[in-house]
Amino acid sequence: MELCDQTAARLAALLRKGEIRSRDIVESVFRRIGEREESIHAYISTGYDAAMKQAEEADSALLKKTPASVLAGIPTAVKDNLCTRQMRTTCGSRILENYVPPYDATAVKRIMEGGAVMTGKTNMDEFGMGSSTETSFFGPTRNPWNPEFVPGGSSGGSAAAVAAGEAIVALGTDTGGSIRLPSAYCGVVGIKPTYGRVSRYGLISYASSLDQVGAIGRSVEDCAMVLSLICGHDPRDTTSAPVKMDLVLESLKKGIKGLRIGLPAEYFVEGLDPRVKDMILGAASLLERNGARVKEVSLPHAGHAISAYYLIATAEASSNLARYDGVKYGFRAEEVRDTLQMYELTRSMGFGREVKRRIMLGTYALSAGYYDAYYLKAQEARALIRRDFDKAFEQVDSLIAPVSPGLPFRLGEKMDDPLQMYLVDVYTVSVNLAGLPAMSIPCGMVDGLPAGMQIIGRPFDEETVLRVGHAYEQLNGAGSKKEES
Ligand code: GLN
Repeated sequence: MELCDQTAARLAALLRKGEIRSRDIVESVFRRIGEREESIHAYISTGYDAAMKQAEEADSALLKKTPASVLAGIPTAVKDNLCTRQMRTTCGSRILENYVPPYDATAVKRIMEGGAVMTGKTNMDEFGMGSSTETSFFGPTRNPWNPEFVPGGSSGGSAAAVAAGEAIVALGTDTGGSIRLPSAYCGVVGIKPTYGRVSRYGLISYASSLDQVGAIGRSVEDCAMVLSLICGHDPRDTTSAPVKMDLVLESLKKGIKGLRIGLPAEYFVEGLDPRVKDMILGAASLLERNGARVKEVSLPHAGHAISAYYLIATAEASSNLARYDGVKYGFRAEEVRDTLQMYELTRSMGFGREVKRRIMLGTYALSAGYYDAYYLKAQEARALIRRDFDKAFEQVDSLIAPVSPGLPFRLGEKMDDPLQMYLVDVYTVSVNLAGLPAMSIPCGMVDGLPAGMQIIGRPFDEETVLRVGHAYEQLNGAGSKKEES
């Protein structure tokens, strides 16, 4: 097996033993990029020279036995909505096509200070608005398992890069499923932490009350390694929680004996692909046979999640995206009559169709006369959804659920039908509305395409989510198979 296909945990061990150098891993990853990027298009920008320089620094620290962190020397891809000083940050949009931020996002700063090597910036749905990476101004990313299918979105570039060996781990972001969905569709592991766990400073806002930065990797342990670096309070983000997280990697391995796991009854209904349903129920019984106590729970307001989410997310987006007016940064339309026309042309040329649709929807939901009927109602539904989870977590320690109602779909299949595209998020958005941590983990293949399972936890209890994930990974054999070869 080539270096670019190994887990970060294994590579970190080899680096520490002096058996390989970070430069070798970077060479291997960029060789793979050379081979596969043309058909996959996981990246918007890559940077070989800068990566090699960072690898050399990591190698000399490793040689002196002073690596900066567990991620030292590990090639890491960064979603293109996280600000990076060394590379343009486009958010998948024409309006930021040539934008080079003057600072690094906190999550980026932390992995760089931890000695990670940044391979490049990954493709994404424009401003995170989409579930397939098809709304990117730079063209879609394709699923590494089959290029006729989407990789999921909006962090489709990050998930595809990890799945294809074009990066070892990646940063993604999740507003309504954008880490979990592409992780499921690409057959990798992705974790969206609790709202407030990771600083949003330098993350270009989509919907600020829902956005969260997280990790994508080939194993639960790899995700935990990345999370342990990026989590923690940041005075630059007032919503980042002053809660300590001592993520001891060993605690992942505590097993699941006696752990209570819930299956939300409302999630296993019509509309869920029976093949996905069978796999998840199979996973539940595997966990049960190995000591977990599985029971059905109820999330009675689950049916309101999609409408609440698409009102709140678009309302916040309409306000957040008001800043792109051609004045301060980014694209500006030329040859205009006056300032008003400059605003109009800049925005109509700079944003894509889906982003415009959301701005209009959100502006409408917030407008006088409709505010109570839409935005306020959605906030009320959000409170009920959160309460459902609180009640469920009185009875169980974590929940398992589908990530998506179906398997990866074909490129173009849902692009003309926004409602169909929104429905793909039916199992992921509630978690963001409630601010909970959740992970997607591979749970099988159908017709050569991967399916994922979701593990949801109590606020700030990433540890249990990781523990269940790790136990399942071991039982399912996914982790061990990768380690062997
Ligand atoms: N697909 C959802 C949306 O379009 C979620 C996207 C995300 O999490 N950024 O809003």
